[in-house]
Amino acid sequence: MRITYGTPLAPMTTLGIGGPATALAELDDPADFPEFVAFAQGRPGGPVCLGAGSNVLIGDAGCTAPVLRMATRGIRVRDRDDDRRVLVEVQAGHPLGELVRTLIAENLTGMEMLAGIPGTTGATPVQNVGAYGQEISDTLVHAVAWDWKLRRRVVLDAAACALGHRTSALKHSRRWTLLSLLFALRRSPLSAPVTYRTVAAELDVPVGARVPLAEAAQAVLAVRRGKGMVLDCADGDRRSAGSVFLSPEVSRARAARLRRDGAPVNDFPDGTTRVSASWLIHRAGYELGAPVAEGVRVSSRHHTLVADEGANAARFHEAISAVRRRVLCRTGVRLVSEIDFIG
Ligand SMILES: Cc1cc2nc3c(=O)[nH]c(=O)nc-3n(C[C@H](O)[C@H](O)[C@H](O)COP(=O)(O)OP(=O)(O)OC[C@H]3O[C@@H](n4cnc5c(N)ncnc54)[C@H](O)[C@@H]3O)c2cc1C
Repeated sequence: MRITYGTPLAPMTTLGIGGPATALAELDDPADFPEFVAFAQGRPGGPVCLGAGSNVLIGDAGCTAPVLRMATRGIRVRDRDDDRRVLVEVQAGHPLGELVRTLIAENLTGMEMLAGIPGTTGATPVQNVGAYGQEISDTLVHAVAWDWKLRRRVVLDAAACALGHRTSALKHSRRWTLLSLLFALRRSPLSAPVTYRTVAAELDVPVGARVPLAEAAQAVLAVRRGKGMVLDCADGDRRSAGSVFLSPEVSRARAARLRRDGAPVNDFPDGTTRVSASWLIHRAGYELGAPVAEGVRVSSRHHTLVADEGANAARFHEAISAVRRRVLCRTGVRLVSEIDFIG
């Protein structure tokens, strides 16, 4: 494990924003984790875990709490469980994209629709990462974590993680650092049924069809690319944190009104009905590419915020507040931000 002091955190985030870490530990060997525990316990502030930095906004003054950058790797396909599902154990720092590719190569279905989501596997339960009809709650069995309150290693089963729509018991809590995760997947060369019309159209199949795993992932990637939702260093919209806002939950009555106005309103597995945040942002009058604060604008392909030259955390925060205010005023719907504010 390597510990550095005063290291800039901005390059470790996809927004490219944020000051330095007073102390930063990079963990690439899980066996070194006890060393970090000893280091962090002697320092002020609960430790902050950073994966690939694709869902965080780090403050301009940086982070005084010790930061652990999770860089452990490893995937182990284990035996089957009682339900004949294949168990797969993954180290927390393993990139999600690589995991999805490995599962597809192994003919394992359950995560193919998550292709193209940036970040580490360890961060996926934090907001129950999901897209195009699949989410981590579909496959997570448990996570092995360090509990900073109990000061010991614990096994958090999926129920204890309380996974909801882009939320969990872990979100906005620094109590647990996830070290490894266990997933259960089914062996099949075919994907889960395609439930999103855009993905079905890309594949030229009816909604509900099952297609070869790799084809499903390719179609999802194509749809995501069209919205600038795949990180690409040649992309002008690359300084992104994804959606920035959650799709807000709406009542049945409001859902009906929004549907009449043409809004994408979807029912989610946790029983909530939600309207697309990007539709609301557009409806509130923000055009693609529109400037919102100095160095912060709407993406050129999707109604979300991205950073440019001159952006900093204060300005990004100002842009988030401006969008929330205008969306509330023009649509009556309150947006909640999805990203974690650090420092
Ligand atoms: C272009 C783009 C597209 C995206 N598309 C989607 C999408 O379709 N669906 C979706 O759900 N998300 C999406 N996201 C958001 C993001 O990719 C996910 O939230 C991802 O899981 C974050 O992983 P990370 O490793 O970058 O976490 P970070 O951004 O580093 O951290 C996010 C949070 O998780 C915590 N955390 C990280 N690792 C651990 C750990 N090991 N233990 C405990 N806590 C930890 C951090 O403290 C922080 O609170 C997108 C982001 C971008 C930039």
